[in-house]
Amino acid sequence: MSLWQKGLKELSDLVKSKEVKPSEIISSFAERTEQVEPKIQSYVSNLMEQALEKAKEKDEQLAGLDNIPDLFGLPIAIKDNINVFGTKTTCSSKMLENYESIYDATVIKKLNQQEYIITGKTNLDEFAMGSSTENSAFFVTKNPWDLDRVPGGSSGGSAAAVGAGIVPASLGSDTGGSIRQPASFCGVVGLKPTYGRVSRYGLVAFASSLDQIGPITRTVEDSALLMNVIAGKDEKDSTSADVPVPDFTQKLNQDIKGLKIGLPKEYFIEELDETVKQQIMETVKQLEKEGAEIQEISLPYTQYAIETYYIIAPSEASSNLARFDGVRYGHRASEYKDLEEMYSKTRDEGFGAEVKRRIMLGTYALSSGYYDAYYLKAQKVRTLIYNDFMNAYKDVDVIISPTTPDVAFKIGEKVSDPIQMYLSDIFTVSANMATIPAISVPCGFKDGLPIGLQIMGKPFDEPTILQVANHVEKLADVYKRFPEL
Ligand code: GLN
Repeated sequence: MSLWQKGLKELSDLVKSKEVKPSEIISSFAERTEQVEPKIQSYVSNLMEQALEKAKEKDEQLAGLDNIPDLFGLPIAIKDNINVFGTKTTCSSKMLENYESIYDATVIKKLNQQEYIITGKTNLDEFAMGSSTENSAFFVTKNPWDLDRVPGGSSGGSAAAVGAGIVPASLGSDTGGSIRQPASFCGVVGLKPTYGRVSRYGLVAFASSLDQIGPITRTVEDSALLMNVIAGKDEKDSTSADVPVPDFTQKLNQDIKGLKIGLPKEYFIEELDETVKQQIMETVKQLEKEGAEIQEISLPYTQYAIETYYIIAPSEASSNLARFDGVRYGHRASEYKDLEEMYSKTRDEGFGAEVKRRIMLGTYALSSGYYDAYYLKAQKVRTLIYNDFMNAYKDVDVIISPTTPDVAFKIGEKVSDPIQMYLSDIFTVSANMATIPAISVPCGFKDGLPIGLQIMGKPFDEPTILQVANHVEKLADVYKRFPEL
């Protein structure tokens, strides 16, 4: 087995026992990257050369080190809407094409304390708006299991990179499914933490009441390992929660006897692909054999989740994106008559179609006279969705559903139909609306394409969803498989 086929934990153990040097690890991933990255195109900025240099420095430090940090010399890719000092942070937008970060996001500071090595900044749908990376202003990332298909989105680059084996782990961001849906399409593990669990400081804001940063990894254990690094209250983010940070690996190997799993009937709908459904139900049966108690539950307000999400997210986006005005940073139109025209030309040239669509939607929903009818109403429905989950959690410990209604779709298939595209988030947006943690873990294949199973948990109960995910992972064994590339 080559080093590039290993996960973070395995690599970390090899470094800690000084059996392998960081430069050997980075070289192995660099070679793999050279081979397959031209086909996948996961990176907006490929920083592999710089990573090789850093690895050599780490080799020298390693010799004299006794206390070796968990991520010492290990490669991790970062979604290109997270600020990393001295690298470009483009959000895959023309607006920020040449913008260089002047500070580190809090999650990056924390990774730096563990002495990780960044391998690159990954492609996304512009400003994280989309489900396929087709909204990137630069190029479309390809699904490593089928190059004619999308990797999902918006963290498509981060998921494809891990799925293709060019990096063992990455960070993504999830506003309505952007970690879980691409993880599902690329056959890897994606965790959206509870809102407030991980600092958003340094994440370019899309919809501030929904956004969370989270790990994309090959294994559930690696997901827990990264959560141990990135979670926690941050003075720089007033919405980060002041709650104790557990050891996220604590429950991984505990059995699931007596654990109560809910299956929401509203998630097993007509639009759900038959093979995906069968695979999910097969896995649930196996969990039952291991001692879990399965029961049907109801989340009646699920039917309004997409509609309300597509009011709330664009409203917050329209406000957040007002800062891109050509004055302080980012793109500025080269010719204009007056200030007004400078603003409008800058924004017309800098933003792509989907971003403009959302700014218009959001501005409309927030405007006087419509605010009560749209934004306020949507916030009220959001509370009902939250209550649905809290009621369900009186009876069950976790909720299982498919991550997406079907496996990865073809490039171009949904791009001209925004409503179809929005519907691919149907099972993921509710977790953001309800602020709860949710993980997607591979549970099988349909015609060679990975199927993702979603586990949703109680607020701040990431350890239990990781525990269940660990069982699913062992049943499915997908993480040992790599796509032919
Ligand atoms: N696909 C959803 C959207 O387009 C979710 C995006 C996200 O989670 N960033 O809004």
